[in-house]
Amino acid sequence: MIWPNWPWRDTTMPADSPAKSIPFRIAIDGPAGSGKSTVARAVAEALGMTYVDTGAMYRAVGLRVSRLPEGANWGGEAEACDIAFRPAHGGQRVILDGEDITEAIRAPEISDWSSRVSEDPAVRAAMTRRQKETGSRESVVMEGRDIGTVVLPDAPLKVFLTASEDERARRRLRDLELRGRKATLEEVRREIRERDQRDSTRDAAPLRKADDAVEVNTDGMTIDEVVGRILALARERGARG
Ligand code: C5P
Repeated sequence: MIWPNWPWRDTTMPADSPAKSIPFRIAIDGPAGSGKSTVARAVAEALGMTYVDTGAMYRAVGLRVSRLPEGANWGGEAEACDIAFRPAHGGQRVILDGEDITEAIRAPEISDWSSRVSEDPAVRAAMTRRQKETGSRESVVMEGRDIGTVVLPDAPLKVFLTASEDERARRRLRDLELRGRKATLEEVRREIRERDQRDSTRDAAPLRKADDAVEVNTDGMTIDEVVGRILALARERGARG
């Protein structure tokens, strides 16, 4: 099933949101194209929580180092850069050092750069520290590769999303097409296969299901079904909203 982009709304919490007084954390991990972003955004919206796209943070670092001469200190760059998410009509914007990089970080070469920089333990340390800080301050739905295992190991709900390689490739191709980029299904399939291989075999925080994560295979499920399943689990475990 190919998923449309989830309609986006501002998920900034009102000051009196119950989720604000009792932080609740939901960790969503999974391979490229498993539907994490679409689902995490929708769950955050339904529960009035903050949505954190950690892949966008690694992409921001990837973009920054891609513009530097070879030999740059990736960890130093990751520490120094300012990455912000700005609510905006039609989708959350990603801002790197004041520059709107929302579109630029979706280019296939930046996917590749993000996966490369994310192997560097110093880059991971810098991103993990920021992500933990956010998760300790406010209720979050955070998605990535190591959220349940490393960033939020105490999250009351961890979900590991999967889907067949075919389905993930089709979803990724559709995402690219919606952004006005051209690619073939075969190219996309090769790209996600290479990235998943690197992400799950690296030494530093490899992609892996946390022992206490609930695995949800989204093949043949609609977005609403997946979101409904996660919302039910979240409410069972004490999330309000
Ligand atoms: O989720 P997305 O595909 O945008 O992530 C881009 C890349 O960032 C991934 O392929 C992975 O290498 C890296 N990443 C990571 N840890 C995370 C999130 C993303 O290593 N928590």
